[in-house]
Amino acid sequence: MTKPQTNPYRLPTSVTPSHYNLHIRPDLESETFTGNIDISIDATENVSEIVLNAKEIELKSARLVGGGNATEASDFTYDEELERVTIQFDGEATPGSYTLSIDFDGILNRKLAGFYISTFTDESGEERKIATTQFESTDARQAFPCFDEPAMKASFEIALTVPADLFAASNGPIISEVVSDDGSERTVKFGTTIKMSTYLVAFIVGPFEATDPVDVDGVPLRIIHPMGKGHLTSFALESGAFSLKYFTDYYGIPYPGEKLDLVAVPDFAFGAMENLGCVTFREVILLVDTERATQPELLRIADVIAHELAHMWFGDLVTMEWWNGIWLNEAFATFMAAMCTDAFNPEWRRWDQFSLERSAAFDVDSLQKTRPIEYEVKSPADADGMFDLLTYEKGGSVLRMLEQHLGPDRFRDGIRHYLKKHEYANTETSDLWDALEEVTGDPVRSTMDAWIYQRGYPLVNVKQCDGCDKTILTQNRFFYKAPEDADETVWPIPMGIRYADSDGNPGSMKMLMTEDDVEVAELASARWVNANGGSNGFYRVSYSPDLMTSLRDAMGEMEAIERYSLADDQWAAMAAGSSSAIDYLNLAEGYSGEDDLDVWTLLTRNLASLERILDDEAARSRMRSRLGTLYSAGLSRLGWDPRDGDSPRDLELRGLLCRSLGITARDEDAMARLRELHDGYLTGTTIEPNLAAASANAVAIVGSASDYEAFLGRFKDAATPQEERRYMTLLSSFPGEGEFQNTLEMCLNGEVRSQDAPYLAGGAMFNRHHGFTAWEFIKSHWDEMLEVYPDNSVVRMVSGVQALSRPEQVADIKQFFETHNVPTGQLTLEQHLERLDVNAASRQREVGPLTEWLLAD
Ligand SMILES: [Zn+2]
Repeated sequence: MTKPQTNPYRLPTSVTPSHYNLHIRPDLESETFTGNIDISIDATENVSEIVLNAKEIELKSARLVGGGNATEASDFTYDEELERVTIQFDGEATPGSYTLSIDFDGILNRKLAGFYISTFTDESGEERKIATTQFESTDARQAFPCFDEPAMKASFEIALTVPADLFAASNGPIISEVVSDDGSERTVKFGTTIKMSTYLVAFIVGPFEATDPVDVDGVPLRIIHPMGKGHLTSFALESGAFSLKYFTDYYGIPYPGEKLDLVAVPDFAFGAMENLGCVTFREVILLVDTERATQPELLRIADVIAHELAHMWFGDLVTMEWWNGIWLNEAFATFMAAMCTDAFNPEWRRWDQFSLERSAAFDVDSLQKTRPIEYEVKSPADADGMFDLLTYEKGGSVLRMLEQHLGPDRFRDGIRHYLKKHEYANTETSDLWDALEEVTGDPVRSTMDAWIYQRGYPLVNVKQCDGCDKTILTQNRFFYKAPEDADETVWPIPMGIRYADSDGNPGSMKMLMTEDDVEVAELASARWVNANGGSNGFYRVSYSPDLMTSLRDAMGEMEAIERYSLADDQWAAMAAGSSSAIDYLNLAEGYSGEDDLDVWTLLTRNLASLERILDDEAARSRMRSRLGTLYSAGLSRLGWDPRDGDSPRDLELRGLLCRSLGITARDEDAMARLRELHDGYLTGTTIEPNLAAASANAVAIVGSASDYEAFLGRFKDAATPQEERRYMTLLSSFPGEGEFQNTLEMCLNGEVRSQDAPYLAGGAMFNRHHGFTAWEFIKSHWDEMLEVYPDNSVVRMVSGVQALSRPEQVADIKQFFETHNVPTGQLTLEQHLERLDVNAASRQREVGPLTEWLLAD
């Protein structure tokens, strides 16, 4: 017997696939396709009907062949809600192996999901079409009828019949190409894949070109791109080859495909997708001119390539059993990408930069509406809702904490064991902990379960005990706004503690804090104690006033990442109401000698949002002048002019400080210099890319109608995908009402691609003068946006509401969402709304005292 499925979205398990032989013929002109598929299946019970997933495809005929018999299907029944088709046969087939053959047709949609149309304008100005796929989570069923669940793994043999002049690629290498008698079509057959999940299948057809393959220890690696963009591929090739080697070595298992193509797709709903052997990307995170790109743009490309290649093993070779385990895929790829990128370019200091991602995870996880990393998933919409900060950034942070706790080599050995043990198969979260336990002997499962299945994270409070010669650590769950009922969740916290002993000698210790209250004797006479040494732990720290003072006096002995955490924890304390904006400004002004990029990134961002809440002109002007002093001090080490030997981080830091000095502090001299730099950039002068980006930012903030025209022109005729994105994004920063309105309209009239428009509209809410107009535009075009934008992007657009924290704005936004849903991101929406309340409360609490304090100074 097969145990009945309790989730209506799950397929019966009495029939399972082992191999798909798929032939698809797309018609790009009519935006449709036809296909036929032979699925090798095994039936464990008598079958008179077979249930498959299918969405927006129509079955024309089906037959079941096996045991010397062939049975035609008598009927097809579609269930649109469950995205299924039931194929009925006359009579029953006995248990055994069969081939299920189906003819079907479908549409090439424009929603960037399933099998869809993407377009671009070629060098001769002609619009060209591409047909391409994006199947994760559950859209393979839009391209062919299939058992569309990650655990129903099978091998795939794919063939495409395409117009003879178009390029075609899929997961496997090309094994044959046959041109039709009249020369108009080509049938391309691809080699059989390993056993894998349906969501990893991919095929693309269009006017693409490929680079010559680079041989990476026997694996040919290519970049596939729309025609005419070959000059933007060298960085991706270099970074791709590095990542492929790195992971082959780290995992100790050969790459599980025969070739590797990285494909740039002009319209793409996500960042990138780890289809085995045929990884697809947004153009802006694959194609780049290194001479013109900023440090974050290059880092992002290297990081995303590494993330996707990490998946070739972790995700593709070994896959989660069901979508509740998606964090296992994504958190791990996030963690591995940071490690690989750190090795690719150590000067980028990738793990320090990871602090910003950890902060983003903390931010969501400080809400009452957060969720555990692993969370029940029933429907496809639930699965799509899992691709959030808690899966990627919190998951990645928690793995980093574990890796540092176990030690990198023991952790890697555990991962190797896990992958070897489960290759070609599916796993639950506990399989990973078990494998790590088997190799290390540490109680990994009991420690990690708390971090995966409990929502939120702890705040560790540290104080010296009066008269008992001990340091007392206590933990409690951290909230921005605590619920009425006390939350008594306790975590086993892998802690790294750094301190200076009574003679000032540095020391460190590791411990697992399993109780809510712990006394540590060794630290009682320490000069200072940093209870999150190295900042690898997923917890915040609150120090008693005396310990805080000693820590601030010892800033020179802290690592950059620790100075970062101090400022980050203080900011969170302000949002929670246990500290104030005045305290934060005081702390920040102590960082005038700071030389680290990430610390400055955090400070400038937080201080800019403090400056934004001030309504009083005089107070704002005082604030700007204080920030001007702070940023000028930060910039004094670097100066305005790039120097030989500047590290990549210094180049970016200079851009950041110049931009902040201009935009936030409104330093007139800085604004004038940035304007001058940008004028030069537009007329072809070579400007250091980070400064070029900063200057464009500064011009947009105060830009005139004619500046806007220049930005629009640059967006439409950009030299690189990064420049296109930069000038597009800045269209929403202009102060003029007409310009702003035009930008909003571009979000829906097709001038901005649907892959970008939701982000442009969401970002527009941050416009200082017209943010609320952007919200009103979204509100009044809501249905249209849901129709046109990729499903996954709507909730990301809505995240822009956090820029609006006036009480009447918050009320309006909340009222709208009382009657409107975001189907694939309802929980994330609720988190945005709770965050809005936190911002509004914090504004209300802080603006008066801060204004008074600034004016009194
Ligand atoms: Zn991923």
